[in-house]
Amino acid sequence: MIPLAEAQAEVIAACQPKPPRPVDVGDALGLVLAEGVTAATDVPPFANTAMDGYAVRAADVEAASTGRPTRLTVIGTLAAGRAPDTPVGPGEALRIMTGAPFPEGADAVAIVENTRSEGDAVWVSAPAPAGEHVRRAGEDVAAGQEVFAAGTVLGPGHLGVLCSVGRERVSAVPAPVVGVLSTGDELVEGAGALLPGQIRDSNRRTLMALLRRDGFSVVDLGIAPDDEAEIERRLKEGAAGCDAVLTSGGVSMGDFDLVKVVLDRIGAMHWMQVAIRPAKPFAFGLVGSTPVFGLPGNPVSSMVSYEVLARPGLRRMAGRGDADLHRVPVPAIVDDSRWRGGADGRTTYMRVQAGVEADGRYHVRSAGGQASNQLYAMAVADGLAVVAPGAEVVAGDTVALVLLGP
Ligand code: AMP
Ligand code: MG
Repeated sequence: MIPLAEAQAEVIAACQPKPPRPVDVGDALGLVLAEGVTAATDVPPFANTAMDGYAVRAADVEAASTGRPTRLTVIGTLAAGRAPDTPVGPGEALRIMTGAPFPEGADAVAIVENTRSEGDAVWVSAPAPAGEHVRRAGEDVAAGQEVFAAGTVLGPGHLGVLCSVGRERVSAVPAPVVGVLSTGDELVEGAGALLPGQIRDSNRRTLMALLRRDGFSVVDLGIAPDDEAEIERRLKEGAAGCDAVLTSGGVSMGDFDLVKVVLDRIGAMHWMQVAIRPAKPFAFGLVGSTPVFGLPGNPVSSMVSYEVLARPGLRRMAGRGDADLHRVPVPAIVDDSRWRGGADGRTTYMRVQAGVEADGRYHVRSAGGQASNQLYAMAVADGLAVVAPGAEVVAGDTVALVLLGP
């Protein structure tokens, strides 16, 4: 057996980031920026008002008060999206709406709450300090400023800033395209009646959903029966058309574990026994230059190996930095009565429900049956609690909690 960290290091070393390419901003959510982006323009592009009111000269309304309001002549109204055509002179005011460009001559906003309009005049009942409620050109982003460095993971707000500065495309690392194959003579799909010995394929749906959750693109390679020629055909098709392939099933010691046989023939694979429970058997290698992850068939095992082994490698292919590759565990208090780590040198990943309690700390309890075929507990789990080999954990102890989810 090898420690999980060793298996992860091997995967990450072989999963190189994809070459960057131009991506439309609308398709760039979650991608890693491959260039530094410099703003070509100021944001906002012009000085404008932050409030509805009147553009005035501060000096004109210095002495204004509720008891002695100041009267100004209104020279017009300016909505957002319009350009001012007349400067504001002494004793004048321009009615102005949030976002409208700030006119020449004025230096302050008398907010509408401090005014009363009367015909073509306005009474201002409070001073309007110069510059207040005026948004300066470039006060958010200045032209020439580097807004985002290469390596930035693009979130919704980043996309908005790119739009604001007029960028339609950026150079980014594209999301890896990942093929997903289920293997096993027993597997069928759909609501139809099961023949004796058959079960419904759950791994493929789950793995494809995990990939989508993590921002990767998915190719459904279907279900292959335990037949060497068919497995070979699907794996070659996946390796040729995808950036990486996930298979599940057929990688352990059974008579019909033919994924192992085929991958050994067509790829350069490393078959590992990882010192974790679940998800001990794990295969990783290259078919041609395409990374292939051979995940175990048991549904919980395939999900856990995805989370701790495939996901880090795929994130590396997506250009993620090392600090982001793994999920960093948080300390959590165990509320269950007793858990035991295995006596076989494997670290146990308990499927747990987790929540922050009144003491401000994470608390965890078992999410249900912990066998590697019992997908239900994994489905309702919020995370994996790490129990060291041979450890005995009792209620009140602190464990490391790997939170699952996006
Ligand atoms: P294997 O690794 O092929 O020996 O499979 C181990 C266990 O996982 C067996 O009980 C299989 O029936 C089950 N299994 C394999 N693939 C799937 C799948 N795609 N969906 C649900 N169960 C599966
Ligand atoms: Mg099988």
